[in-house]
Amino acid sequence: MSGIFGAASRKGNCIQSLYYGLDYHSHLGTDYAGMAVYRDRGIERKIHDIRGENFRPKFRHAYEKMSGPYGIGVIGYDIQPVVLSSRLGVFSVVMNGYIHNLDAIIARLQSEGSTFAEIQPDSTISPAEVVAEIISRADSLEAGILSVFALIEGSVSLLVMTKDGVYAARDREGHSTLVIGENGDGFAVTTETTAFPNLGYRTIAELAPGDIFLISGQGISRRCGADPRLGRPCAFLWIYTSFPASSIEGINVEQARYRSGALLARRDRAAGFTADIVSGVPDSGVGHAIGYANESGIPYARPLVKYTPSWPRSYMPSVQTTRDLIASMKLIAIPEIIRDKRIVLCDDSIVRGTQIRRMVKEKLLVNGAREVHIRIACPPLLFPCIYNESTRTTRELAARKAIRILEGSDIPDISGYLATGSAPYRRMVAAIAQGIGAHSLLYQDLEDMAEAIGRPLEGVCTYCWTGLSGERREHPVGMGLDLDRNHRAPHPPHTEGPEAA
Ligand code: SF4
Repeated sequence: MSGIFGAASRKGNCIQSLYYGLDYHSHLGTDYAGMAVYRDRGIERKIHDIRGENFRPKFRHAYEKMSGPYGIGVIGYDIQPVVLSSRLGVFSVVMNGYIHNLDAIIARLQSEGSTFAEIQPDSTISPAEVVAEIISRADSLEAGILSVFALIEGSVSLLVMTKDGVYAARDREGHSTLVIGENGDGFAVTTETTAFPNLGYRTIAELAPGDIFLISGQGISRRCGADPRLGRPCAFLWIYTSFPASSIEGINVEQARYRSGALLARRDRAAGFTADIVSGVPDSGVGHAIGYANESGIPYARPLVKYTPSWPRSYMPSVQTTRDLIASMKLIAIPEIIRDKRIVLCDDSIVRGTQIRRMVKEKLLVNGAREVHIRIACPPLLFPCIYNESTRTTRELAARKAIRILEGSDIPDISGYLATGSAPYRRMVAAIAQGIGAHSLLYQDLEDMAEAIGRPLEGVCTYCWTGLSGERREHPVGMGLDLDRNHRAPHPPHTEGPEAA
């Protein structure tokens, strides 16, 4: 997941909005960040590795030096923005998403004479440069963006800056979001609406899936009709990824988490379950826990507090053991609150189970908790994301490990484990609970998760839990490329597949 932000200033300098607007995307977990501005003599850009230092101090110098009426930027995992000089003029691109068939597209473009200069530190070609190259071959920016949508397998939302302003395009399935705001100085487009209030922007439009808008100092204009079908934004945007102050499709993230916790509490109440205190794993479990506490009447407490001054970033390290270590070091237990209590601990999800196991065993039980009951805001994760960068593999998911224990080996058909409440599902959940050391474990079911979000089930992406993509692809539009679409990496539903990301 990356965050992208663009700004267009009526007064001629967007850099303050760009700098602070991008900074509000720092929670998205990052390796690199970049900004580009359009000015008279062309496009100026700055890119930094921010693994060791936060965005704002790293870009302070650029902020003081750069200026221009239009700007775009990104906080993400690749080296961006890219800048291209083409027959369409000079333009710059940032993107958020993941392209499965990147290698096939690169091979075809190279066979047709394209060369790529933006090599990443791991020697791979920049996906954003591939996107820019596809755009450059079209007769217009809009046609180029449509070609990107038609050719890629996966999900891409992007910003393209030209002398005319900033083109904003949301991916055709709507997995990621883009929202346009206006303030006294102009317009901005953002992944997270959290960036808007303190910069004085009010939301004036949310791009629909497939939408293309142009923002400039003069105003905004829609350049392409959106796909009228219902988009499928990532359900995790509400459950985990987005900052609580953000709204997606007009639905606030924090409120969705309250509803999620309340629905879990109702299921516990119906089962006659109670406890002494409710808590949330900081930070993304807190909203769910508040919702649970308010609905159940069980007091909210903080048996685990997060030490933030020297640990500014949440899931930055790419090495799992380092991530686990940092997650554990950040959380400090308070024995006086924990001792002799029956504790409900809410979290957004269980990925590998290593972090929650440490919390249960090494922070709560060791400090005298009488019982620990884990409540999770989504169903058991069974498939790695196929629409964004994912650090998880199928085999390492806690639910897959539980199935492997129950079956004695990996099995090709896991469909029996998908139905909430079925005997295999209950055995799988019991095995996960045992693995993490919890006295009980309750997962939100799909229907309640959609209800908490406030959209119909078919209106959110649920691939992580179902293995069903629900993609709505059509035939690619022309631009001289006719890629073989049969190369597509298989993601068969309900089977033990290869590492997806
Ligand atoms: S596969 Fe999972 S993480 Fe990826 S977009 Fe769909 S719901 Fe979100």
